[in-house]
Amino acid sequence: MEPVISFENVFVKYQNIIALRNININIYQGDYIGIFGPNGSGKTTFLKTIIGLVKPDNGKITVLGSEDIKKVRTNVGYVPQNISVKKTFPATVLEVVEMGLFGKIGFMKPLKPEDKKQAEEALHMVHLETYKNRPIGHLSGGELQKVMVARAIASKPNILLLDEPTSALDFMMVKDLMKLLVELNNKLNITIIAINHHLDLLQPYCTRLLLMDGTIIYDGKPDNNEIDDIIKQIFSF
Ligand code: ADP
Repeated sequence: MEPVISFENVFVKYQNIIALRNININIYQGDYIGIFGPNGSGKTTFLKTIIGLVKPDNGKITVLGSEDIKKVRTNVGYVPQNISVKKTFPATVLEVVEMGLFGKIGFMKPLKPEDKKQAEEALHMVHLETYKNRPIGHLSGGELQKVMVARAIASKPNILLLDEPTSALDFMMVKDLMKLLVELNNKLNITIIAINHHLDLLQPYCTRLLLMDGTIIYDGKPDNNEIDDIIKQIFSF
């Protein structure tokens, strides 16, 4: 099977900081990858290189068969780390989800009935269809996060990337989100890569765990015995 994402000897530097060193990985359709590691270990940078927001200084990245990430960008959904919406932001939940289609149909282009249906389906997938006419500024942190997932999957991408939810989300909300990702992974066979700072919220749900510390120091089953020792090393307990 061809990987949907492949990194070969990838290095990323910001001025004099090496954020990623020698990343080698093949990710396959249907993988649900959880990423765990200390602050500053390159997790966000890893996601940003997949969508082309950050360019590698060395090495090769292939996404959905293309080295030109712009060409495949609409097939990769991305939920960034910091999501906040002003209480008065003038859009409904459904309108925000519909914005997720602009990458495919063009910015602010009128939506066809089938586009609207696709946005409603995405809201249904995150179990928020009854919220569609609510103002986006009136949701809880957990609901907003789910709407952002719906927005990211509205265009039916092959890959969904999620940076760790902001600290505004409590443990139960994040657990709910992680379970939802399992459902999307199973029902849509979408490839998921999710960063989270709760290891115990990744291990029961993801099919493959990455431990990062500037590079990938573990890539395998989420419940392996060696994981605890590696974590002690990277967090210097
Ligand atoms: P994580 O997501 O694991 O917290 P990041 O990928 O955000 O890690 O950051 C990796 C390293 O790169 C950190 O040392 C961070 O300070 C640095 N870094 C991230 N973004 C930038 C940037 N835009 N400019 C300079 N340094 C950055």
